[in-house]
Amino acid sequence: MKVAFLDLHAINARYESRIKAAMERCFDSGWYVLGREVQAFEAAFGNYCGGRRAVGVGNGLDALTLALRALGIGPGDEVIVPGHTFIATWLAVTAVGAEPVPVDVCEHSANLDPMLIERAITPRTRAILPVHLYGHPADMPAILDIASAHGLAVLEDAAQAHGARLHGRVCGSFGDMAGFSFYPGKNLGALGDGGAVVCASDALAERVERLRNYGSRVRYAHEELGCNSRLDELQAAILNVKLDALEAENQRRRQIAARYAQGLAGLAELGLPATAEGAEPVWHLYVVRSAERDALQAYLAAHEVQTLIHYPTTPHRQPAYQGTPAAACAVPVSERLAASVLSLPMGSHLDDAQVDRVVDVIHQFYERRSA
Ligand SMILES: *Cc1c(COP(=O)(O)O)cnc(C)c1O
Repeated sequence: MKVAFLDLHAINARYESRIKAAMERCFDSGWYVLGREVQAFEAAFGNYCGGRRAVGVGNGLDALTLALRALGIGPGDEVIVPGHTFIATWLAVTAVGAEPVPVDVCEHSANLDPMLIERAITPRTRAILPVHLYGHPADMPAILDIASAHGLAVLEDAAQAHGARLHGRVCGSFGDMAGFSFYPGKNLGALGDGGAVVCASDALAERVERLRNYGSRVRYAHEELGCNSRLDELQAAILNVKLDALEAENQRRRQIAARYAQGLAGLAELGLPATAEGAEPVWHLYVVRSAERDALQAYLAAHEVQTLIHYPTTPHRQPAYQGTPAAACAVPVSERLAASVLSLPMGSHLDDAQVDRVVDVIHQFYERRSA
């Protein structure tokens, strides 16, 4: 039995007639940029994110970059980022001319360790940028306390956490701002690139609206140096269809995660993802930890189970960051995770038999090792 890591065609096929109808609606409208579909999606997604203002942008990296610009962060400023994340979190900070300052993560949540944040704060620190990695909420109450004690802004990287909750509150509604991605493989995925900035105030939302559109709110009046990064009208039409299905998609991911947890519980050699008290993760990824990660991945591949590694190299070890201050920092837990994490197949394309197959092959791997 083949088990695909992800099968976007199978997932999107379930919405085929509604997606095609939405695309036809766009075609017929004759209005292709910042039209009704973007407006409707911004209203619906903002509402979904705790009743905040949402502004559609070109992708998740731009969402984070424009959020930092709207917060007034730039050259000479420092932003605290997790040592273990997708590199886009860091690139947004670098893109505005600020310095990413890595802080290590917790072994079990793989998210920013609040105990380590204060020692990284300097007079130049302007913001904390926590990531809800793998769809598991970061420890936002602790992070917000530290931010308010030091007068720092908080920008959530919620690119993997559409609909995740902590103590009943949805991710993206904790900080001053949040960046979302609608890259096809995310929990809420378009059929191309897309992103959104979710904002705690009208003033911040208006600033992002300006920045994404040449620094202009009224045509040919340019108040600041903006860029062109608008959520595409066609992608917004598709996202309007898929937002309705997000809770059901997330629910299926939770069932799969529970089935993995139950099936793999007896394996002492395997680290399973923990769920913090009060957290309702959305399982963008189901990530296990193994000291024999590479051998386990090869064994699964040989048995037609596809897995991926998120992420094999920490941003501070990437060639792109060599020679920067961040490259010299110490984030031992992040490095340990990079060497041991393995993402199992996850998504609504999987049926229970496929999940059970993954569990069985992992058991086989460890039985053969101990035999
Ligand atoms: C996907 C992702 C991004 C970037 O989103 P894009 O739409 O691909 O630019 C940023 N941060 C994290 C944690 C992501 O997973």
